[in-house]
Amino acid sequence: MSIQRIAVEEAFVTQSIADAWNRVLAGRFVEPGFQKMGETILGDGPGARQLHARLLDVGAGRIAQMDADGIDLAILSITSPGVQVFDAVTATRLAQEANDVLADAVRANPQRLAGLAAVAPQFPGGAAVELERAVRTLGMKGFLVNSHTMGEYLDDRKYWSLFEAAEALGAPMYLHPREPAPAMVQPFLDYGLYFAGLGFSVETSLHAMRLIMSGVFDEFPKLHVVLGHMGEGLPFWLKRLDNRYLLQVQIGAVTKLPRLPSEYFLDHFVVTTSGMTSAPVLKMCIEVLGSERILFAADYPYEDARESVRFLDAADIPSVQREQIYRTNAERVFGLT
Ligand code: MN
Repeated sequence: MSIQRIAVEEAFVTQSIADAWNRVLAGRFVEPGFQKMGETILGDGPGARQLHARLLDVGAGRIAQMDADGIDLAILSITSPGVQVFDAVTATRLAQEANDVLADAVRANPQRLAGLAAVAPQFPGGAAVELERAVRTLGMKGFLVNSHTMGEYLDDRKYWSLFEAAEALGAPMYLHPREPAPAMVQPFLDYGLYFAGLGFSVETSLHAMRLIMSGVFDEFPKLHVVLGHMGEGLPFWLKRLDNRYLLQVQIGAVTKLPRLPSEYFLDHFVVTTSGMTSAPVLKMCIEVLGSERILFAADYPYEDARESVRFLDAADIPSVQREQIYRTNAERVFGLT
């Protein structure tokens, strides 16, 4: 029996964004987390070169790899940290160009590829306009933000024009990780902890919680957010987040929100399996969130996509849940038809 597999956190880069990263890294003021990334994963070793070549390929090589891995449809997005380390003008221009490149790739393989838009939060008004163009004109299925932008988070009201556009367009936001923000990255710089094992998750779960606690979802009740890596740890924490929030309300330390943190999470977030091939974690997420809130992702080319397929194919879950996670949840969340 064949099952259609949709992978929703699949990375690419444009040559001009890669070039602009190198210009930032050669400059005088570089965010410490991004600098560390530059020294390693964006470096010039053979592993980094192969990764770079795979990120650039949104054509035949990518499709051939998807065939080999058993992925039917890949939703591509600009890889971390995307345009979020550039000045507003450069970031806005390179996001537009990346969206055009991605739209061309999707047009060439419409049965196999779809896209999430890149936006430049540095220029919130422009990001909203570009999101509208990307969704309405280019057919993007949502947008992706690589967590903090120069140490700032999207709970700041100056960014909310982006959420206003997202809600109006029905465009979900993939909140993707990057290195921890400059204000907290220092203790992560040792032992490689800034990277995807822990640092990315700490950074991104913090960002998600800032959105919840700021009241973004009361202002934008139809806004939806996708988190990778089985929810960046938050499903594990939900009960305690509620419990400690209620204590803080009781002692007057935080303002009471209309809903509990876990209720916002269940109402507004879905999670993906990117980079997570742990059966107990999948079981926990199904129990805590429900199988309707879990989507498949391979995180190509950073992860072994074949392994992620093997994992979900073999997971001890009912076939109806497997179908939800591989296909129908993605169709619902991203409006695929
Ligand atoms: Mn990723």
